[in-house]
Amino acid sequence: AGGVKLVKSGVLTTCTHLPYAPFQSKDQSGKVVGFDVALIDLVAAKLKVTQEIVDTPFEGIKSGTDLNAGKCDVAAAGMTITDERKKVLDFSKPYFDATQALAVLTGKQVKTLEELAGKRLGVQGGTTGEEYINAQVKAKNLTIEVVSYKDLAALQQALATNQIEAAVNDLPVWNEYIKANPGKVVVAAGFDTGEQYGFAVKKGNAELLKAVDEAITAARSDGTYDKIYATWIGE
Ligand code: GLN
Repeated sequence: AGGVKLVKSGVLTTCTHLPYAPFQSKDQSGKVVGFDVALIDLVAAKLKVTQEIVDTPFEGIKSGTDLNAGKCDVAAAGMTITDERKKVLDFSKPYFDATQALAVLTGKQVKTLEELAGKRLGVQGGTTGEEYINAQVKAKNLTIEVVSYKDLAALQQALATNQIEAAVNDLPVWNEYIKANPGKVVVAAGFDTGEQYGFAVKKGNAELLKAVDEAITAARSDGTYDKIYATWIGE
């Protein structure tokens, strides 16, 4: 993989925003692991370097600021490819399909956004879930109080402690939460936003983007992608 310049030699530096299980989160030893981490490890192996992960707010990732500042080589953050983000980042091929989902505490009878009229609905700041909800509230003239949290942990904590009536985030993230906290919350509704995640590089970094795409393509064809999927996402 000659020709790929890295911000720190011998290392593929990845920007992410923790926690975002099952895509990236700390294990019991404090090591960052997950679906995205495993895929970027393949890119690092291809480049004959190791991956080093930098935890940074999502805003700096999706705006291109972190990549432009040389904070990292690649962004891997369960990040949805959008037209707006494509203006400031170069995205890899899609590596994962996602939708949005509404989660409530088990036992709550909510099934639709309309039923949340006059109530508090939590979202994660800067995400596509937040954008989706704000657009729905506007289009349908809903009287929902949308409350934005700085990360997934804060959003899930608010839901678990009943500070909000419901919360919206990417479906795989709720599925993971339910696995880790059985019986606590349920997915009350899904919103088929047709999202696809992509890894991102600094605009114009075609060499690294090529390596990322090649690693994804190879993993998809040799069964590695399916193994990583089974490990982190499940069936
Ligand atoms: N997929 C969502 C987005 O891109 C959430 C990503 C995240 O919170 N890490 O906005």
